[in-house]
Amino acid sequence: MADKITMGPQGQLQVPDEPIIPFVRGDGTGVDIWPAAQSVLDAGAAKYGRKVAWREVLAGQKAFDETGSWLPDETIQAFRDHLIGIKGPLTTPVGGGIRSLNVAIRQILDLYVCLRPVRWFQGVPAPVKDPAAVDIVIFRENTEDIYAGLEVEEGTPEAKKLIGLLKENFGWEIRADSGVGIKPVSITGSKRLIRAAIKYAVERGRQSVTLVHKGNIQKFTEGAFMKWGYELVKEEFSDVAVGWDDCGGKPGDRILVKDNIADITLQQVLTRPGDFDVIATTNLNGDYLSDALAAQVGGIGIAPGGNINYVTGHGVFEATHGTAPKYAGQDKVNPSSLLLSGVMMFDHLGWKDAADDIVKALEATIAEKIVTYDFARQMDGAKEVKCSEFAAAVVENL
Ligand code: NAP
Repeated sequence: MADKITMGPQGQLQVPDEPIIPFVRGDGTGVDIWPAAQSVLDAGAAKYGRKVAWREVLAGQKAFDETGSWLPDETIQAFRDHLIGIKGPLTTPVGGGIRSLNVAIRQILDLYVCLRPVRWFQGVPAPVKDPAAVDIVIFRENTEDIYAGLEVEEGTPEAKKLIGLLKENFGWEIRADSGVGIKPVSITGSKRLIRAAIKYAVERGRQSVTLVHKGNIQKFTEGAFMKWGYELVKEEFSDVAVGWDDCGGKPGDRILVKDNIADITLQQVLTRPGDFDVIATTNLNGDYLSDALAAQVGGIGIAPGGNINYVTGHGVFEATHGTAPKYAGQDKVNPSSLLLSGVMMFDHLGWKDAADDIVKALEATIAEKIVTYDFARQMDGAKEVKCSEFAAAVVENL
C-alpha cells in the first residue's frame, strides 16, 4: 500500500515499499523528459519488487496557468509532508516577487545542501582527454552567501540609505552610484554543510574533503568558512577525519580534510582532478564549480542534482538544466539529467540496487551509440533517437 516516507528516531529515512513521491513535471521540455525519466525509474524499481506512488504537484508556468500562483502552497506542503520529491525544470517568472522558483523552494524548505555528484558516464562525449579521472561530489551551501537575496538597486532610496549607514557607522566609502549586496556566511550554515560532506565521505568510503573558499580576499566570510570547517573536524570527527595541518597531509586511515582557494581549484580540477574527492564550498563558488566540472565530463545536459536537509529529512531532486523552450514538446531532448536526479533520489532512499542498475543500463545504451541529438552531434556513427525512444532503449537494457 502506498505510504509516506517518514523520519526515524535515529534521523534515518524510513522508506515504505511503495513510497508516495510528489513530482513537478516541469515547464518547457518537462513534458518530454518527465515521462521518459519516470518510465525508466519505474522499470528500475520494479526489477526489485518496488513501486513509486507518484503524485503530481504544480509549480512554474503550469501552476500559474491553472492556479494563478507560480508556487502554490499545496506544492510546498506536499514536499513538506512527503519529505522527498523531484522536479523538472521550471520557467523563471519575469518580474513579480519571486526571483527564482528553485531558490524559493530551497529557502522555504531550508534545503541547505546542494548535492552535485560529477562523474563521467562511459561513452559520453567529453572535451577533456581523461574524463574518467573526474569523480567528484560537490556539497554546495544552498541558503546563504549572495544568494540570500539581500541586494539593493543602484539609485534607490534603499541603496542611498544603506550606503549612508555604512559610511556613518563603519567609515566605508562606497560610490554613490553603486548597487549593494550583502554576503552572509554563518557558523551555523557553514558547519551543517561541512558536517554533511564529511558524513557522506565517511559513509561512502571517500578519501578526502576539500574546503573550497576565497578566504585570501574575503577573510570573514570565505576564510571563516574554512576555519569553521577545520574546527568542526576537531569537534566532531577526530576519530574518522583529520585536518591537513594536524597530520602534515598524511591522514593514515582517516579522511583528509584540506582546503583550496576557489580560483586555483577551477584550474586544478582540470589539470589534476584526481586530487579532488568530496568538495564542500560556499554557494557562489559551488555554482561555478559544479557547472564547470559538469562540462568537463560532457555532462552539462545530463548532470543531476539534489537539494537536501539531512536534519529534517527533506530533499528535492532536480534536473540541473533549464526548460529549453525551443525544444518543448518535440520529444527531442536528453532526459538523462532528470533521470539521473531520480537515480540520486533512489540512492538517497537506500534503493542502491535499482539506482546502480539504471546507471549501468544508461551507460550500455550510450555505448551502443543510441543517443539523443545533443550527444549524436558530437559522436561518430551515433544513432540519433527521440527522448522517449532513448528512455525505451535504457529500459530495454535494464
Ligand atoms: P536551458 O533551458 O538550460 O537551455 C540551454 C541549452 O542547453 C539548450 O538550448 C540546449 O542546448 C541545452 N539543453 C537544455 N536542456 C537539455 C536537455 N534536456 N537535453 C539536451 N540539451 C539540453 O537554459 P535557458 O535557455 O537559458 O533557460 C530557459 C528557461 O529555463 C529560463 O526560463 C530559465 O530561467 C529556466 N531555467 C530553469 C532552471 C531550473 O529549473 N533548474 C535552470 C536554468 C534555467 P542546444 O541549444 O545547444 O541544443
